[in-house]
Amino acid sequence: MPTDRLATLPISQWGLGLKRPLLIAGPCSAEGEDQVLATARVLKADGRVSVMRAGVWKPRTRPGHFEGAGDAALGWLQRAKRETGLLMAVEVATPEHVEAALAAGIDLLWIGARTTPNPFSVQAIADALRGTDVPVLVKNPINPDLHLWVGALERLHRAGLRRMAAVHRGFSWFERTPYRNSPMWEFPIRLKAAHPELELLCDPSHIAGSTERIGAVAQQALDLGFSGLMVEVHPDPATARSDADQQLAPAAFSGLLNELIFRQAAPTPGMQDRLEELRDLIDQLDEEIAQKLGARLDIAERIGDHKRANNVAILQPERWERIMRRQLRLAGHLGLSEAFVREFMDAVHRESIRRQTLDGAQEASVGSEGRSAKGG
Ligand code: PEP
Ligand code: MN
Repeated sequence: MPTDRLATLPISQWGLGLKRPLLIAGPCSAEGEDQVLATARVLKADGRVSVMRAGVWKPRTRPGHFEGAGDAALGWLQRAKRETGLLMAVEVATPEHVEAALAAGIDLLWIGARTTPNPFSVQAIADALRGTDVPVLVKNPINPDLHLWVGALERLHRAGLRRMAAVHRGFSWFERTPYRNSPMWEFPIRLKAAHPELELLCDPSHIAGSTERIGAVAQQALDLGFSGLMVEVHPDPATARSDADQQLAPAAFSGLLNELIFRQAAPTPGMQDRLEELRDLIDQLDEEIAQKLGARLDIAERIGDHKRANNVAILQPERWERIMRRQLRLAGHLGLSEAFVREFMDAVHRESIRRQTLDGAQEASVGSEGRSAKGG
């Protein structure tokens, strides 16, 4: 089924006076009035943040943890807004949350990574939002599935919402990675390619999971053209009741903003020539890579025929380990990361096996006649 065209409005047209880069910051959870007000005051003093975030209803993976202060927290956010003029954003997961947040004058809503993948929940939220034009940020689903992310955006879009942006917060992954949630940048990039009007924000806090990597992840997002960031900031992270490891203290957050290089959305005319030149080079290299991959797969297929003719199993693990070791040694010399080379070579290997076995299956379906002819 073709995807809907998402005719979303850019952040600058949300009617809230927001502009690129959109900086959203605040605690993982609203924990108390003092904590909320203290955060709002430091963010206001920094001067670069326009929206404060705070979780009011917290989706915890396991029961028995702090699940948010609930409706009471909305009053604290109202007070923080009155005092500082910052706009307020909260996570909503049910129609009741939507109703309470809107009644409290919350300015932006976001749908969390545990809600986005649930079509029932997203539809219920979309129905509750029908007829409003409140901006909604849609975080990616916890699992790397682009359709679920797009599906959530489509449900909201079909409910008439146009003020939407997607938030990349990384994906749960079964292998150990240096991140809490693997960034898998290809997903937000593919989302943007399919829906150019949709603006992307990055939540480097939930990707990193600890304070050290937040800067690098945030910079990568800005380099990729993301429109802004959502960062967890807590006045005293060590005492935080959720996500204590990844929340930045106010001074560290201001330091981070000082360090980051904010990119323009589109290249300026002066940059254009050099950019064209470099892009031509990239295109040329991509073409060569495609040709080489094609050639490699053809040879793999011939090896497959040969193995089959001699009744040898397609998968030869020792041979594959030798190839991988060799490539990893090369990678070291070329400055390529081990993770990238592993992933790339695994994909090449998977495709080779697929080609070799597909060929066998096709041949088998031709019947004994075809096989004996080929076997000679
Ligand atoms: C959050 O923003 O605190 C949160 C729960 O995030 P996510 O839905 O991305 O896990
Ligand atoms: Mn959090």
